[in-house]
Amino acid sequence: MKKAERNLSHSHKGRLTSHSSNKTVKRTAMLIDDHVHTAMSGDAKGELTEYLKIAGNRGLTEIGVSDHYHPEQPKYSMSNEKLAEYVKKVQQLKKKTDFPLKLGIEVDFIPSLESKIEKALKSTPFDYVIGSVHFINNWGFDDPKYISEYQKWDITELYETYFSLVQQCAKSQLFNIIGHPDLIKKFGYKPKTDITDVYLNTVEVLKESNVCVEVNTSGLRAPCREMYPSKQFLKMCHDNGIPITLGSDAHTPENVGKNFSQALKLIRQVGYENIARFTYRKLELARI
Ligand SMILES: [Zn+2]
Ligand SMILES: [Zn+2]
Repeated sequence: MKKAERNLSHSHKGRLTSHSSNKTVKRTAMLIDDHVHTAMSGDAKGELTEYLKIAGNRGLTEIGVSDHYHPEQPKYSMSNEKLAEYVKKVQQLKKKTDFPLKLGIEVDFIPSLESKIEKALKSTPFDYVIGSVHFINNWGFDDPKYISEYQKWDITELYETYFSLVQQCAKSQLFNIIGHPDLIKKFGYKPKTDITDVYLNTVEVLKESNVCVEVNTSGLRAPCREMYPSKQFLKMCHDNGIPITLGSDAHTPENVGKNFSQALKLIRQVGYENIARFTYRKLELARI
């Protein structure tokens, strides 16, 4: 574990202080991984207890589990029955463990399924809900099995389509956090034209919708070899006062907190001093 992460290892008992902006900021530094998947997601391995153990060893101060949920396609996601089992499991462990653990979920955003998503989530006391765009129409564009579909698109149009879904995801008001906000770059397909305006419009919508943006380190492990979102996009988020969360998107316990030193460096470079921390869907800011 790198120095920045080690230094944060015994600091999770911070006290709160009020700021004039009416937001609470935790005084002591926090290092939270809000995005990990366990074997409850069809594409992940490992038990939550293993994640907690590694998170503690790596100097994280809190972990949030966010298994996949899609209201109609339980291929990699939990079915409605599994969802209930997942919630129970995490809630039980929350009571047993000393390590700060949060109950999150990563939901596939599908515009036509908004009311189904709302219905499935409304009675559960999640700490936070991540909304992620993994599908364009029915194409799972982040799945290497379907990579040939990229050939059928003009890449600028593809980015415009993707970011319009990200905007709808934020506007739906179903989510606290927008997961990996430029996932469309995963396989390295990048537009040849300047799409700064698309980013600016998107950031404006994110701001108006009052959602957080996730800095997700899994892009470093993908062919694009950069974090989600890009530095350019993250800087725009900062300049618009959009709070951020931090996630490894680990699908195995070994990847919990992966590349967080690099993420902190980027986050600080663009000007952030805090990350968001959620409890029962209420945001407080925590110093990094
Ligand atoms: Zn995702
Ligand atoms: Zn994920």
